[in-house]
Amino acid sequence: MPQVAFECRSLGFPCEWALKGSSTNEVLDRVREHARCAHNMPEVPSDLLPKIQAAIHPA
Ligand SMILES: [Zn+2]
Repeated sequence: MPQVAFECRSLGFPCEWALKGSSTNEVLDRVREHARCAHNMPEVPSDLLPKIQAAIHPA
């Protein structure tokens, strides 16, 4: 059962991608993958990481 959720647009991207996961770390891994594939970000910038963590919220 999903426990946390994330919406890409909460970071300011014009992107409708969203997901739910069972833990913050799981969601973070998938956000990294999405950023690489969809937003041309081989690595998530260190200043963006806390914003992603802050944007992950209870589902
Ligand atoms: Zn996105």
